[in-house]
Amino acid sequence: MVFIMKKNKKMTTNFGKRVDDDQNSVTVGPRGPVLLQDVHLIEKLAHFNRERIPERVVHAKGAGAGGYFEVTNDVTKYTKAKFLSEVGKRTEVFLRFSTVGGEKGSADAERDPRGFAVKFYTEEGNYDLVGNNTPVFFIRDPLKFPDFIHTQKRNPETNLKDANMFWDFLSLTPESLHQVTILFSDRGTPKAYRNMNGYGSHTFKWYNEDSKYFWIKYHFKTDQGIKNFTRQEAEQMKGIDPDSATRDLYNAIKKGDYPSWTLQVQIMSPEDAEKYRFDVFDVTKVWPHGDYPVMEVGRMVLNRNPDNYFAEVEQAAFSPGNFVPGIASSPDKMLQGRLFAYHDAHRYRLGPNYHLLPVNRPKAVKAENYQRDGYMRFDPNGGGSPNYYPNSFGGPEPDPQAAEPPFEVSGMVARQPYTHPNDDFVQPGALYRKVMTDQDRDHLIGNIVSHLCNAKKDIQIRQARIFYKADTEYGQRVAEGLKIDL
Ligand code: NDP
Repeated sequence: MVFIMKKNKKMTTNFGKRVDDDQNSVTVGPRGPVLLQDVHLIEKLAHFNRERIPERVVHAKGAGAGGYFEVTNDVTKYTKAKFLSEVGKRTEVFLRFSTVGGEKGSADAERDPRGFAVKFYTEEGNYDLVGNNTPVFFIRDPLKFPDFIHTQKRNPETNLKDANMFWDFLSLTPESLHQVTILFSDRGTPKAYRNMNGYGSHTFKWYNEDSKYFWIKYHFKTDQGIKNFTRQEAEQMKGIDPDSATRDLYNAIKKGDYPSWTLQVQIMSPEDAEKYRFDVFDVTKVWPHGDYPVMEVGRMVLNRNPDNYFAEVEQAAFSPGNFVPGIASSPDKMLQGRLFAYHDAHRYRLGPNYHLLPVNRPKAVKAENYQRDGYMRFDPNGGGSPNYYPNSFGGPEPDPQAAEPPFEVSGMVARQPYTHPNDDFVQPGALYRKVMTDQDRDHLIGNIVSHLCNAKKDIQIRQARIFYKADTEYGQRVAEGLKIDL
């Protein structure tokens, strides 16, 4: 219980009239019936009926916290973003962690990627870095996203999670193998939000004062150390405490044990990107650290629990399209899809003026433009100032200084896949052979077998063959566990 004992205030209706009694409806005599003239009762019931807003179609279950980001290394050679301009500079942040596939009431310990969405309230507007706890993703074209998510949700007939749907799609989509390997390692069941890394996943662009640009990848490394549940521990925790990660985050911050992450970036020149052995815009790939070592940028600390969950966490709206000068998107197709989809999802979920909500609006700068009206326009709506541009009455003007440096692209307009060699198996193979310990591999195989065994045999065989392509032992061990021939 976190409520603080205080003297009670006077209760009013939503329009400020004092409420005389909040225990007894207005009735004709003590036995009723109830009268329609009880406007307090009607207001209370009607508002209650409207308490729920649409839950996010993905990342529905989440927890959030506020804090700050502090620059610890000079990166001005690479980006002119003002919030990164000086060692020691602090910027307020809000972070939302989440699972992906489950509903709002689902368990925190589910096997799932975890969302890791950071909002930096910078003096040049809000910058959102909307990533996951995995450096890669299942698919690399946004056209596949709704189908992929359907397979992680419930079967349309039974309304049950369905291993056939799950593995059918993945086994027909081999580009998913890298992410599947990470998801079915114990990193797929983090012990707490504090004990996992965050990754920007996509390649992004940084550009400096001279308009020279670089491709970058973000890594938030947990200062608490990586800690994961085993499959058995996660299964148990789902029953014992479905809100285990939410509780852990809240309690840690409440007792002053503030979690932190070190932000690192990998940097690649545009020239390197042209000839690199992997397509640097393909979100199913990482940039191996041996080729592109990480460089420290800063430290993020979470030191504030939200005062109200709905106001701050449920209404928080992040978009990978919220950039500041010095940071921009890349041609990554998944990122391009997300640039549209996030704002669109929030317009549906929260309304067209969701940017005015306290958690979403810029804090260090005022938004200035000619967009007006719409549902729930609860700011002064521009008052009496002009609502068109250009105008001669002192309205806001575009600032060419904020322009992204021009970037040349060419090509045929068509529906086309990435053209790099078929290398979907190289990185998951390296992860299995070189990065994982014997124990990691044992757990990976056990985690896969205990889930894939629920799919039909032909799907099991198709998926095991994909593991085999990444590494023969990987495929053989899954096949043995499933008692199938490859
Ligand atoms: P490195 O040995 O330099 O890096 C390996 C990375 O793997 C580390 O960042 C480590 O994270 C992470 N890692 C360790 N165990 C797991 C696991 N069970 N699941 C996922 N990641 C894990 O090798 P490379 O950079 O050459 O990459 C080799 C493979 O490592 C890649 O193919 C990829 O699968 C994986 N990887 C690579 C990352 C990258 O950005 N290069 C990032 C994450 C994974 P930590 O040190 O934080 O524990």
